[in-house]
Amino acid sequence: MWSSSRALSFDLDDTLWEVAPVLVRAEARLTDWLSEHYPALASLHTPARAKEERQRIMSETPERAFDLTWVRTESLRRLAAMAQCPPSVADEAFRVFHGARNEVEPYPDVYSGLARLAERFPLYALSNGNADVHQTVLGPYFKLGVSAIQAGAAKPDSKIFDYLISRVGVRPSQIIHIGDDPVTDVQGGRLAGCRTVWVNRHQRAWPEDLPRADAEVNDLHGLSTLLIGA
Ligand SMILES: [Mg+2]
Repeated sequence: MWSSSRALSFDLDDTLWEVAPVLVRAEARLTDWLSEHYPALASLHTPARAKEERQRIMSETPERAFDLTWVRTESLRRLAAMAQCPPSVADEAFRVFHGARNEVEPYPDVYSGLARLAERFPLYALSNGNADVHQTVLGPYFKLGVSAIQAGAAKPDSKIFDYLISRVGVRPSQIIHIGDDPVTDVQGGRLAGCRTVWVNRHQRAWPEDLPRADAEVNDLHGLSTLLIGA
């Protein structure tokens, strides 16, 4: 099944690193920065309030909800207006957040797993989040990172997979998409015609109502054994 594979596409958050602590740290970095430079905005922009604002923006503008950078910047703009701060603060503040968003700590198997896989396949990143893989410590392993923002759609929409496939220049079935999410990664990848591998790091049960991935692994060592051999 794998012998015709020509490229690997990786989900990022919760596949290569745990995302929750990254977001907590990035929010804290943003709060510190706002407190120092725009205290009036900092007192409005609590994590709970900011989240509420982002959810409101996404429900008002569902057609742009995939663009988490825009959503976050727009929420900063709205709160900045309420705090009577200049609108330019939003982009500046987003840059602070985004710097911290890219400071990820890969799971321990990731460096050696990617290094081994990269000897055999070109590696691509395919993420709904707004991390930029080339601004993370894993950048050197990847040929290209595609986000929902660039593709104009989020996984599981086939549009984002098609966007990647057109850039890789191979048939969909020659790409293996690898990720932790049964719907966005496995179902999405399958519907786009790719092979799929589910990364099940926490021994979760597969959702009964979904067709299974082509393979399941616990981590990237399992993946490299599956694709290259022991
Ligand atoms: Mg994920």
